[in-house]
Amino acid sequence: MKRMFCKCGQEIFFDNLYCAACGRDLAYDPTIGTMWSGEVRSDSRFYPHTTNGTKLPSFKICNHRYSVVNCNWLISPEDEGSCQCVSCRTTRTIPDLSLPKNPKRWRILERAKRQLMYTLLDLKLVDPQGAPGHNVLRFDFLEDQRSNPNVALEHVLTGHSNGLITLNVAEADEGFLHVMKEQMGERYRTLLGHFRHEVAHYFWHEIIEQEGLLEAFREVFGDERADYDESLKAYYEKGSVSHWKSRYITPYASSHPHEDWAETWAHYLHMVDTLETAVSYSLSVYEPRRNDFDDWFSEWKRVSQVMNALNRSMGLADPYPFILSPVVQGKLRFIDEVVDAHFYRQSLEENARENQTSRQHSLDGI
Ligand SMILES: [Zn+2]
Ligand SMILES: [Zn+2]
Ligand SMILES: [Zn+2]
Repeated sequence: MKRMFCKCGQEIFFDNLYCAACGRDLAYDPTIGTMWSGEVRSDSRFYPHTTNGTKLPSFKICNHRYSVVNCNWLISPEDEGSCQCVSCRTTRTIPDLSLPKNPKRWRILERAKRQLMYTLLDLKLVDPQGAPGHNVLRFDFLEDQRSNPNVALEHVLTGHSNGLITLNVAEADEGFLHVMKEQMGERYRTLLGHFRHEVAHYFWHEIIEQEGLLEAFREVFGDERADYDESLKAYYEKGSVSHWKSRYITPYASSHPHEDWAETWAHYLHMVDTLETAVSYSLSVYEPRRNDFDDWFSEWKRVSQVMNALNRSMGLADPYPFILSPVVQGKLRFIDEVVDAHFYRQSLEENARENQTSRQHSLDGI
């Protein structure tokens, strides 16, 4: 994630609503990936303050700015008909807010989702205007009887089906996350990791299947037509395959090619976001470029070693307990190529749309 500053020079963070130093309101513009300093006026619009006094148009604020969600995102000018930002509007079901823990859980879930969206928008994997045919991603945040005895569902399992992602709201609790981490033997388990994993299943359909990449996928990840339920059953009964580290990023990735893809994709997004943070804080001098997997990958290895070393100095566990074998490196390279190609196509489509609009404008002018 990029390092951000208020107009007054104070360092600010991604989910800040106002600057603690100068009191200006802050708002994130997902269309161009920038945090603005300015003011929210009584018309519920955000007016950016500029350095040189240039007058900028105002933006509509997300109507969750003042709900328990405290979303600081803006609505793009092309999307003024919407009441919610491009991230908030993907939520279909929320937990019962009359229960004391749920407002906080919902806020934490939305915050993690916005961080997910930050990277997806940056990689042009979702459309900031939510153009028709895009962004069919939807989220259900559900409770089960482990966190609320009054609901019907005994067990909510995190999962994906046709663009609908289901998450157990209890995953927003540090305690629950920790217990599950121990129970499942996962050295790394985070809410953001869940989001990044689940959207991978959605993008598998959107990119691998829709863009005719099935054969290439199978060469790298194996044949996904293997019986999914049987494979998962075998994994939970017998555990991961032996020597999984030489071929998979996590033990769970060895359960089925679909899960291997999702685990590796989530990992790729971790790398993209964290390396951007490292560069932004001058921990790395690497300049991100497209089609530069080898340099990007070796810089990631260096930065992740630094992260672990820093944590060890503080007496903490390694934040990055992963081994990137040559096989895993090949899978990450495949994902990088797929994302790059998709990015390139989206850029061409955007340019074509812009040219069409400006042609239309000049014709209207005649
Ligand atoms: Zn400030
Ligand atoms: Zn929002
Ligand atoms: Zn999965």
